[in-house]
Amino acid sequence: MTRFDQASDEQLIRLLAELERGDKGSDELTCLVHELLVHQIELEQQNRELLAVRAVLEESRERYADLYDFAPVGYLSIDAAGRIQNINLTGAKLLGQSRDRLIGRAFSTYIARDDRMLLKAHIADALQSKAFGSCELRLRPDKVTLGAEPSILRLESALEAASTPARIRVILSDITERRQAEHERRQRDIAAAAAESRHRLVSGLERLSAAMTAAFDPKTVLNDLLRVVQDLLRADRAWLLYPCDPDATEVRILAETAVPSCPGEPPTDRAIPTDEPLRRLIRAALNASDPVQDPNPSAVPMLGGGFAPRSRLIIAVRPEGDRPSLLGLHLCRVERTWSEDDLTLVRALAGRLADILDVLAVRRALTESEERFRATFEQAAVGICHLDAEGFFLRVNQKLCIILGYTQEELLARTCRDLVHPEDHDGLMQYIARIGEDMSYARDRDRGEAQSLEMRHIGKSGQTIWCNLTMAAVRDSSGGLRYFIAVIEDISARKQLEEREFRHRHALFRVGRISTMGEMSSAIAHEVAQPLMGISTYAGGALERIDSAPGEIEPLRLALREISRLAARAGRIIERIRDFSKQHASAPRPIDPVAISRAAIGMIEPEIRTNGVQIELRVGADVPCAIGDPVEIEQVLINLLMNGMEAMRDTPPTERRLHVTIERTDRDQVRVAVADRGVGLERTDPRRLFDPFYTTKEGGTGLGLSMSRTIVDFYGGRIWAEPRPGGGAVFAFTLPGHLPDDSTERSPASPADRTLDGPPDTAIGDPQ
Ligand code: ADP
Repeated sequence: MTRFDQASDEQLIRLLAELERGDKGSDELTCLVHELLVHQIELEQQNRELLAVRAVLEESRERYADLYDFAPVGYLSIDAAGRIQNINLTGAKLLGQSRDRLIGRAFSTYIARDDRMLLKAHIADALQSKAFGSCELRLRPDKVTLGAEPSILRLESALEAASTPARIRVILSDITERRQAEHERRQRDIAAAAAESRHRLVSGLERLSAAMTAAFDPKTVLNDLLRVVQDLLRADRAWLLYPCDPDATEVRILAETAVPSCPGEPPTDRAIPTDEPLRRLIRAALNASDPVQDPNPSAVPMLGGGFAPRSRLIIAVRPEGDRPSLLGLHLCRVERTWSEDDLTLVRALAGRLADILDVLAVRRALTESEERFRATFEQAAVGICHLDAEGFFLRVNQKLCIILGYTQEELLARTCRDLVHPEDHDGLMQYIARIGEDMSYARDRDRGEAQSLEMRHIGKSGQTIWCNLTMAAVRDSSGGLRYFIAVIEDISARKQLEEREFRHRHALFRVGRISTMGEMSSAIAHEVAQPLMGISTYAGGALERIDSAPGEIEPLRLALREISRLAARAGRIIERIRDFSKQHASAPRPIDPVAISRAAIGMIEPEIRTNGVQIELRVGADVPCAIGDPVEIEQVLINLLMNGMEAMRDTPPTERRLHVTIERTDRDQVRVAVADRGVGLERTDPRRLFDPFYTTKEGGTGLGLSMSRTIVDFYGGRIWAEPRPGGGAVFAFTLPGHLPDDSTERSPASPADRTLDGPPDTAIGDPQ
């Protein structure tokens, strides 16, 4: 019997006892008792039912507790401060603790330090709202097995209804694996995207390189490059503007490419005046190292050929050797936000483009230089050719064909030896050999002192062509000969002129010589007369002796020997005169001015003697050789000496002295002066002194001084006259000095080398 049944029974017995003591009607009582009994039966019935329900409930509670504890997710309740109120076994396992130790502890203890604020906010949210809120938190690392990834818990929390104090019900699930899988998938996606972007980049750069090498013409290359860029970035239009310089007054679109449906045609290769919007665009690109998305693409419609694009990306392309250019990409119809990947690609392409622009600049310079060289080669006013080591023509220009009269094909089938004049063949071969072997020629050429050779070619029609040939050897880096460059100048006209001038000078020289001879005729006659007189005397004496003493041979022998000696002397005089008139000028060369002066004095010795003149030769220190022709310079000296003697006709015999001074000037020239004590220059016109036919002498020709000037001028010297202090005149001339360091040093020449009879220091009156 239950306590309730017991209480009811007791109450019932007590009621019955009260009734027996009281006088109440038994029916009523009976009825009440009956009711009570019925009620008791009902109650007992209910009690049994309740007990059955309770048993069911308890069983269900146990099942629920199992379900709760072993649920696949963790369940827990926390209070407003975040303390754990209860938790199922799964939850406890997730937190890595026994349930008993978890109850009453702060949930945040088990959460990674960095995520605790997040938990706090989550709890605050849950307290505010009845709906489930969720968040993801990492467990404290020490709660995680060593080496394993930190566990990630997902919390779904809601305020427990009508809980006082407030409690939050939390569902905990371990999403570590899911997150890990997601992370791995994301990594795989990223890796795939990176690989794709790398592939895009590499193939983009490869395509740029291919476009670079596909053509040579820089313009074509630029257009091809832009097409690649436009295609890779899926842009409607790409263009390259130069210079990317806000201070430039005008710019040019160097290249441009667009899809067919993109409207407008930007003005390529035409100067575009820079306006403020364009300057802003340029500045924006220059100030950024990365591509810049133009916020206002419609600002410079000119770049789209008058049509404003919807999106524009720009970047400065910065080659090392030039000012930057501006690369632009357009989208005409749609707006586009360029992805990071696009920007990376554009940045890389712009870098490569900058390198390519450098290469193109070098290529352009090379092309220009090649064009310049070709123009110089083809249109040169002189013949130019390249020759190999055997002398075969490798390349000839038009002018050389004109000079030699052959076509290019004809020349390319020949060697230079085939065309040279036979007399100049050896000289040419020596010259080529020297240039081919001697590196010093290359040095001379570098110093602008290329050696040349005057030589004759034989033209196609057999004519002789005088040429000035200058050659240089082109060598490889190891010094080996690659080929020769030869510059051939037709100097036939100059040679003709020189020839005429030479003939003219020669004629003048002859006249001068003959005139000198004329002037010396009386002295020569006197000179010749002397041995003739002696011959006549000895012959007469010999004849007399034959008559007076016919048997004496010895005196006759003496006379005949003397006659023979005198005849030989007369013969030598005549020979010398004949040689004197026969001599003629040759090419300029180093000459010894002292020897020539002595020879000149020796030549006019009879005249000197006849006129009773004394000659003093003074030679200064360190007199170099001069450049000239010995015979011509000797003639100049003879002219001056003869004039000097003539000017002293009326001078007292004791003062009839001619001073010949030879010195070195401070400009390393040779100065020769003839000073006399004659009439002086007062009666002459100094401006006309050296003019042809100017004379103050009776019977004078007026040619001596003019001829002297022609000769001295020809050798680059100067001649002049000045009054001599103390009376008389000085006639002086200079000649270029020939200095010893000249590599072509040769022994100086004097007329004595060739023709003079006897040593030159026989000059009369020479004090030396
Ligand atoms: P020529 O002797 O036939 O007159 P030159 O040309 O030799 O011809 O001389 C021209 C003129 O220069 C002479 O006539 C003379 O007046 C003047 N002259 C030349 N040498 C002297 C000199 N040493 N002293 C003075 N006058 C001179």
